[in-house]
Parts: sequence; structure tokens; C-alpha cells
Amino acid sequence: MTHEKPELNVPEYDVIVVGGGMVGSMLCAALASDTDNNHSLGPNRQDEPLRVCVLEHQLPAAFEPGSEPAYDLRVSALSIASEQMLKRVGAWEGIKTRRACEYKRLSVWDGERDGRTDFNCADINADHLGHIVENRVIQLALMDVLSELTNVTVVTPARLSRFRQLNHGVEVVLDSGNTVSARLLVGADGANSVVRQQAGIAMEKKLYPQHALVANVQTALSQQDITWQRFVPTGAQAFLPLCGQQGSIVWYHSKEEIEQLKSLDEDAFLQALQQSFPEELGPVEAIHARGAFPIAKAHAKDYVANRVALVGDAAHTVHPLAGQGVNIGLLDAAALAQVIHEAVAKGRDPGTHAVLRRYQRWRYGDNQLMITALDSLYEAFKPRPMLVQQLRSASLNLVDQMAPIKHQLMRHAMGVSGDLPDIAR
Ligand SMILES: Cc1cc2nc3c(=O)[nH]c(=O)nc-3n(C[C@H](O)[C@H](O)[C@H](O)COP(=O)(O)OP(=O)(O)OC[C@H]3O[C@@H](n4cnc5c(N)ncnc54)[C@H](O)[C@@H]3O)c2cc1C
Repeated sequence: MTHEKPELNVPEYDVIVVGGGMVGSMLCAALASDTDNNHSLGPNRQDEPLRVCVLEHQLPAAFEPGSEPAYDLRVSALSIASEQMLKRVGAWEGIKTRRACEYKRLSVWDGERDGRTDFNCADINADHLGHIVENRVIQLALMDVLSELTNVTVVTPARLSRFRQLNHGVEVVLDSGNTVSARLLVGADGANSVVRQQAGIAMEKKLYPQHALVANVQTALSQQDITWQRFVPTGAQAFLPLCGQQGSIVWYHSKEEIEQLKSLDEDAFLQALQQSFPEELGPVEAIHARGAFPIAKAHAKDYVANRVALVGDAAHTVHPLAGQGVNIGLLDAAALAQVIHEAVAKGRDPGTHAVLRRYQRWRYGDNQLMITALDSLYEAFKPRPMLVQQLRSASLNLVDQMAPIKHQLMRHAMGVSGDLPDIAR
């Protein structure tokens, strides 16, 4: 007796994306919107654009341009490459008209010794190094773009429950019991990706002993254009500027210490913050919100399986100390969209292994390099013997004095080096 897989007749969509977070909605926009390179035609349907469906469990609270809601806790440092991609899919205007803070300078120093490196965009004739933007602003601006595209269906609230991988497509069952089908299923459903787990893709994961406390603060200093990070033996302390006197601080420490800090009332927390953070923070006038997160690094063994691909945190998590998580996720989305466009332009089925392998070859090595680099940075600034501390500080000072290395590092942080997808250039 043979057990042949039942087949789909014609899948309803070319691509179903699970997760309309920052990365998932960027993927949908890059697949379906009219970027200059978007010459994609649906397979065997020569004049039709790709049919894309996104399933999102929960959209963030609305934020209309012109309104001034309280700052969200989750913010991201968007690189120049990310800005470029968001421009190309038409989402940048929706970000700028809501809220985004440009930064031009970046400083990193060793709190134990005198090592320090200061980066300034003027040194490489750039206008800025990046923007700090609330995650929900990025997501909502991308959702605005999707709502204008007739070939994109946004299904929300909707949660993927399970799926079946068939020969010519994937059949997805939602929590509601409804089913949808596509040639390709993409997991953009974050670090605990159900798509990854159900596709049987293993993930190597390491939890760092550190946790991160994130808080929105109002400082006495006026609008800032610098983001900084000081390394102390207990972990890093970082500041990201928001609009006006607002800023976001990230405080890395042991789990126990973060829990203790989180439980303090506002006055006691404010006092602890002023005592521990460097004077660059300036006097803090108010704390608006606080939250804590465990920190992990993780990498899926594969980004692709039969008619399945993973992007963003579903595929990898990095230590947030260089603020690269969403930037590399957006690059995954743009690279996968480009690979799919190129395949369908040649009349190929975008869900086949040969097409998906190209995406994995393109992104896997670069992401592994980022995970390793951030892990090394974390390791270098752990409590170390005196000699290592001296070497570490000397390296920071050396970088500060060697313009070519410094400029190269700056370009790397801006995301403008390496093998970039077309819409990131
Ligand atoms: C403390 C901290 C600070 C950070 N700071 C930065 C920074 O400055 N810069 C930076 O680049 N990165 C930063 N990161 C990392 C960044 O937040 C993540 O890389 C980014 O959120 C990943 O985006 P994503 O779209 O892949 O996943 P997520 O943001 O997790 O989105 C996943 C989406 O999928 C949806 N979903 C999940 N399961 C289902 C399902 N079954 N069905 C339907 N929908 C589903 C969810 O509702 C969600 O909208 C930070 C992380 C931490 C912990």
C-alpha cells in the first residue's frame, strides 16, 4: 500500500507569511509593492503580481501621524540600509510622519579603563548614522503600505495553528479552523517560531546570564544626536536618543539584579539609575516605562525546508548590544523577496528547494558572522584579568586613532557594506 501525499489543486496564494511584525511586513511589502526591481510575475501567470497573504496574531495599538502617544518600550536602531529598504517599499514617509530620531554620533567606552572610540557621521561625509524608531511605528508604517496593495491580504487577528507540507504547496490551518494554501510558507513569527518548530528545523540556542532592562526616560538635556554604550563588569549600559528630551536606556545585568531593579518604585529606580549610569545621561527628570527581557543568541540549523523559509528572529537571535537584530532581519526579508522575484521572472515555482537554497546561501554566513561578532564583543567585556582589560582598552583607543578601520566599522554599523539586496543599496 502506498501513502501518497494528497495534493493541492491551485494554491490560493504564492506566499503566506506568518507574522506581520517588522520583518514579516517588510517581506510582504518587498514581494508585492512596486520597487524599481520588482519585475516579478506570478508563476505561469505572466502579467499578474505575486499573491501574498500575511497572518498576524496581534497588531500594535494604532499611532496616527500627527498624534503624540506615549513612547513604546521597544525601539530599534535602524541602519542606513534599513532606511533605504523602508524607503524603497514606500514605508519611510509613514515612519517620519509618526516619530523617528536621527543620530549622527556613536560612542563606545570601557568603564573600567580609559579605552574609548567615538564615531561621527561627518568623518565619512554622511548625513547621519541611523535612526531610533519605535518598533510599532515601523510595523504600522509597513502595514499602511500593505493596506494599499490589492495583491496582499492581511488576515488579523489570526494565528497559525498547524500546516501540512505537500508536493506543490503548503496548507495552513488557523486557530479559527479556516485553511489557506500557498506555494511557499514563510515563518516571520519571531524567536519562538511555530513555523520553525513544526517544520522540524533545529535551533542552537544559548541563553546569556545577562538580562536587559529597558526604560524610557526624560532627561534634562535637550534633543540629542548621539547614541552611546559604556561597558562595565556587570554588563553594558546604553542610551538611545528619542525625540526632544526623551530617550531609551538599556541596562544589562544579572537576572537577579534586573528583577530587583524592575521591582523598585519610580523614585528608587531613578536614584539607582543616576548612581550607576555615566554622567553623559544627564539628570533624569522622569521614568515613563520599564520592561525586562532575557538575552539569547540562537541560530536555526537551516533557513529552509520543504516549501518553508524562515526570516528574522524566527531564523536567528543576536545579542542586542549593537542593535542589529531587526537590521539583519530586514536584510533577510529583502534577500528572500529578491530571490523569489528573480525565480518567478524565469517562470520558476518560488517554493522549490533550488530557489530557497539560494536565499539560505546568501544570508546564512553573514548572519553567523554577526552572531559570532556580537558574542565576541560580549565575551571581551566580561570581567577579565588586568592584562585583558588593558588590551581591550588599548584596542578601543587604537580604533579611535586609525581612521581607515574606524570608517570601515562605521560603514559596517550603517549596514552599507557587504552583499546587499538590491533594495538596500
Ligand atoms: C532588549 C532588546 C533590545 C533590542 N534592541 C534592538 C535594536 O536596537 N535594534 C535592533 O535591530 N534590534 C533590537 N532587538 C531585536 C529586535 O527586537 C528583534 O530582532 C526584532 O523584533 C525581530 O523582528 P521579527 O519581525 O523577526 O520578530 P517579532 O518582532 O518577534 O515579530 C513576530 C510577529 O509574529 C507574530 N506571530 C508570532 N506567532 C504567530 C502565529 N503563530 N500566528 C500569527 N502571528 C504570529 C507576532 O504577533 C509578531 O507580530 C532588541 C531585542 C531585545 C530583547
